Amino acid sequence: MIRRIFLAFAAVILLAGPTLAQSVPTPLQFFGFEIGQDRKLADWNQLTSYYEKLAQTSQRVTVDTLGLSTMGRPFIKLTITSPENHARLAELKAVQMKLADPRKISGDAELQRLLDQGKTVVLVTHSIHATEVGGSQMAARLAWRMATSNDEKIRTILNNVIFLDIPSLNPDGLQWVVDYYKAGLGTSYEGGAMPWLYHFYTGHDNNRDWYAFTQKETVLTIQGAHNDWHPQIVHDIHQMGSNGARIFFPPYIDPWEPNIDPSLAAAVNQLGAYMAAEVTANGMPGVVTTGQYDAFTPARAYQHYHAGARILSEAASVRVATPIEIPRDRLGPSRGYDSSKPSWNFPSVWQGGAWRLADIVNYQEGGVLALLTNAAVNRRYWLENFYRIGARAVGKWGTWPEAWVIPAGQANTAGVNYVLRILTTAQVEVHQAAEAFAVGARSFPAGSWVIPMRQPYASFAQTMLEVQHYPDLREFPGGPPLRPYDVTAHTLPLLMNVQAVALPEAPRVALSAPIAIPEYGFQLPAHLQGRRASRVAIYKSWQEPMEAGWTRWVFDQYKLRYDTLHDADVQRGRLADRYDVVVLQTQSPRSIRGGFAAGSAPPEYVGGLGEKGVAELKTFVEAGGRLVAVEDATEFAAELFGLGVKSAVEGLRNTDYYIPGSILRLDIDTTSELATGMEREGIAWFDTGSRPFDVSDPAMKVVARFGSPDPLLSGWVLGGDKVAGKPAIVQAQVGKGSVVLFGFQPNYRGQSVATFPLLFNALRR
Ligand SMILES: [Zn+2]
Repeated sequence: MIRRIFLAFAAVILLAGPTLAQSVPTPLQFFGFEIGQDRKLADWNQLTSYYEKLAQTSQRVTVDTLGLSTMGRPFIKLTITSPENHARLAELKAVQMKLADPRKISGDAELQRLLDQGKTVVLVTHSIHATEVGGSQMAARLAWRMATSNDEKIRTILNNVIFLDIPSLNPDGLQWVVDYYKAGLGTSYEGGAMPWLYHFYTGHDNNRDWYAFTQKETVLTIQGAHNDWHPQIVHDIHQMGSNGARIFFPPYIDPWEPNIDPSLAAAVNQLGAYMAAEVTANGMPGVVTTGQYDAFTPARAYQHYHAGARILSEAASVRVATPIEIPRDRLGPSRGYDSSKPSWNFPSVWQGGAWRLADIVNYQEGGVLALLTNAAVNRRYWLENFYRIGARAVGKWGTWPEAWVIPAGQANTAGVNYVLRILTTAQVEVHQAAEAFAVGARSFPAGSWVIPMRQPYASFAQTMLEVQHYPDLREFPGGPPLRPYDVTAHTLPLLMNVQAVALPEAPRVALSAPIAIPEYGFQLPAHLQGRRASRVAIYKSWQEPMEAGWTRWVFDQYKLRYDTLHDADVQRGRLADRYDVVVLQTQSPRSIRGGFAAGSAPPEYVGGLGEKGVAELKTFVEAGGRLVAVEDATEFAAELFGLGVKSAVEGLRNTDYYIPGSILRLDIDTTSELATGMEREGIAWFDTGSRPFDVSDPAMKVVARFGSPDPLLSGWVLGGDKVAGKPAIVQAQVGKGSVVLFGFQPNYRGQSVATFPLLFNALRR
């Protein structure tokens, strides 16, 4: 608490007029070790104190607390630029805001003046994936360098760039990872996986939230940095596996999502190539471009719909801060290059040997400095490009409708609110119609929401509302599919069961001012409320899958009362006395039963459910409880109870069958209690862990099947016939209890409102 007040106070004082009383401490003086030193990490408490110190002692740095993280830690942003720019920051922001919205610029004379005056705005974000610690450590040395160096290059950056830096996108995870790592030093699990998700709800998926905006850290970054400044460049700093290139910079590989302005793709290509050139020129081998990462999903790329170039960097990892040794012969073919031999996009081969945190920090810092130099030297290019992207959006692309309408009066108000919340958070202007209106044969009631498509962020609306037709890309003709880096569909009206209509002409009706961001408005179903509500628990493994975290998030949003069960809670037994329903999110039988192997984690986290826990779960169901299992966990349930059900796509080759994150049709048996409130036709989120079932037990009830003959609604399906018409949700009686098996994910990243009722209906006695 004291810290937060102090931070805000420090920022106010500095903006009011800094005094230079103390000198800026080096990271070594402050932390007592060099940034990047083997086995040494600064935690979030130390780092925030250091940034406060920088803000107190440097006229180039201010720090703002944007809010609090999920677990209540300060979430901060540094603003780094020359003292002269700091003195006129409000004026520079006003220039940027006008360039961001061409409707506000009066003519060419004003445009030229804005282009002369403006600065390139760059946002750099660090270590959203908290175990990728390099970025969070590098940020401190970089901030110190920017605060103190009088190098010509640094001065050019400070004069021409407003550098916004979010030194950790995940402060909770950073603190946990550093604490866990330090406690494990010198043990057999030093540098090993942490026994809980490094974001409380989403784990690694925290970097898949950049259009749904479900998590606090996402919203703080969107509102406190993206929407506050509309940066021309956003650089997100990550780490990848250890055995390939030493660092990746763009260009990305295909596909690019088709509503991203082509000049942004070109901007990303030139900037990433420049970073690679600078880092290589500085004597750092092993830089790859054009490998592995594509630019399709908006879940990772808010800025691509807001006129900003997205630069991802991925450095090769060590074991948290523990160095590793990579023999030369472990380097070899990877996606788009071979790390053992030179090629056009990997010109300088790294020869193997020791790899340490200091290397990661040096490569990452080299990349950021190159990026900032490009932003500074090409200031006018970045500003003009930024303006023109907005101008093209305001002029409307030929592929876009004139407007989208979300009709008023839809039964699914939670879904409608959610869609509106997403659009308005992304600064899409949404209006309400003052009265009923018609376009062609379609009529819409008063109060319907209208999204005119001649506005700066129309591309975001189009992307989120339209159906995706993901290209059928192969590694070679007739070969296996080219794996998308994330998923292939994000159509909100399907995911959220909301009607949205594209209009070929502008509606003739009076419109309200743009609406404010609405609340979710989730309503818990009646059977989960009050004294007679089902008593629900969700299994919380020490290897908890992200989907379980997302499920806790949904339960919390709905204010559902539930318990989380660790292995020891299950092993304690008497589950039937305490619960009616236990949920197992997607997790392999091996992981559920065995968890961490001995020696790979502290003893208290080793061993999974074990025989005792498994037996207690069995007793619970046979005595009248219900077990709900999703995707991989259905195999555990089938094994445990000897059910006549298995995956229908086990062992198929990916040249015959591949569905990497798409929205499928679902045919629902509306006579089932599990289908209460559902229509006969629905959707299912289908990913690589999903499966249709083969059911051999005639007593087993099929609650829903995947659509037939063509199951695809949005995204991409290879081998749809392997899925079409097959069971998707099945239910079996076991003793006095029952088991419900979901072959698909009923809660996709907190977004699949359309299938939440199926999940909630399963939470019955
Ligand atoms: Zn990452």
